[in-house]
Amino acid sequence: MSFIPVNEPLLNGNEKKYLCECIDTGWISSEGPFVKEFEQKMSAAAGRKYGVAVSNGTAALEVAAMALGIKEGDEVIMPTFTIISCAMAVTKLGAVPVLVDSDPKTFNMRTEEIEKKITPKTKAILAVHLYGLPAEMDDILQLAEKYKLKVIEDAAEMHGQTYKGKPCGSFGDISTFSFYPNKHVTAGEGGMVVTDSEELAEKCRSLRNLCFRSDVRYVHDEISDNYRFTNLQAAVGLAQLERLDEFVAIKREMGRYYTEQLKDVEGLILPVEKTDYAENIYWVYGVVLGEQIKLTNREMVKLLAEEGIGARTFFWCMHEQPVYQKAGLFQDESYQNAEYLARKGFYIPSGMALRKEQMDIVADKLKKIMKQVRRSDGSI
Ligand SMILES: *Cc1c(COP(=O)(O)O)cnc(C)c1O
Repeated sequence: MSFIPVNEPLLNGNEKKYLCECIDTGWISSEGPFVKEFEQKMSAAAGRKYGVAVSNGTAALEVAAMALGIKEGDEVIMPTFTIISCAMAVTKLGAVPVLVDSDPKTFNMRTEEIEKKITPKTKAILAVHLYGLPAEMDDILQLAEKYKLKVIEDAAEMHGQTYKGKPCGSFGDISTFSFYPNKHVTAGEGGMVVTDSEELAEKCRSLRNLCFRSDVRYVHDEISDNYRFTNLQAAVGLAQLERLDEFVAIKREMGRYYTEQLKDVEGLILPVEKTDYAENIYWVYGVVLGEQIKLTNREMVKLLAEEGIGARTFFWCMHEQPVYQKAGLFQDESYQNAEYLARKGFYIPSGMALRKEQMDIVADKLKKIMKQVRRSDGSI
């Protein structure tokens, strides 16, 4: 029996053709023409004027935070339940992440808890859309307006998603994307910062490339890093982007199919199909174990692996990260819903290349495991 991986990208469009074009023309560096074309098309898809491609989604968050002038002592509000890239973009600059709990159903930041976290040091809100449904952007934008805060939108998992009909990636001062292979558009590795501000875009272009001074090369007034994105990555990204609508449709069908297969399994909480502001695009198909189930997500991932199924646990909360605890951050903080998701949430194979017969196997194995688990818990 062959292993079903947690993710496998679909690369049967123009990827090979565009990559060959890179080789044939000799354009493999970040100066190549696909980079600009990808920036234009991706920013347009997100409803933005400017796009600056960078080496990955983590780099995009770092560049965005630097471009907005986040600095030592500033506070940035964000969900505790997210990937560490979000907190890192802030702590690397000497600023402090201020955390908020999550909604147990949509997995996104509980926006009603933001206001009481705002202090005179608060500089920005980092909105993160998680696992397929957008965060409540209206609430976030209203608070930002009221308190004169910047908004960074992490749309790394949201290619092709909309919030109340407007594209994710179009909200706030600056938005970021990732093109890691498990995202709806991949470039192998890659990221992008998108914005409507020419000034911010110019700043990001400089930050991406060692902050060379525009008048004299090799002279620097500021320090950043090398965050460049190559023409080879852009070739793949561009071919992927051409199929974005199709990819979103594939993911939605995948979500519908899994839900159909799993809806009667006791003790499994399935992803929300839609809210009043968006329809799930299932970045991954995330499942949460019910309170009555004693098993943890780590144990579940192991059981699934033994059955030949690749699965992953959900993110681990920022306030429980050993690295931040050691640094004295987030002492005695606790966020109940987020901690629950981090211990009980996991996702099953949901890559773009997943086939229906593989989904059937995944659903069957998961059902079988759940039955065994409920039996040993004494609930059946
Ligand atoms: C994937 C992801 C990132 C990081 O992107 P990389 O390209 O892996 O660095 C950032 N934020 C979120 C929400 C993500 O899912």
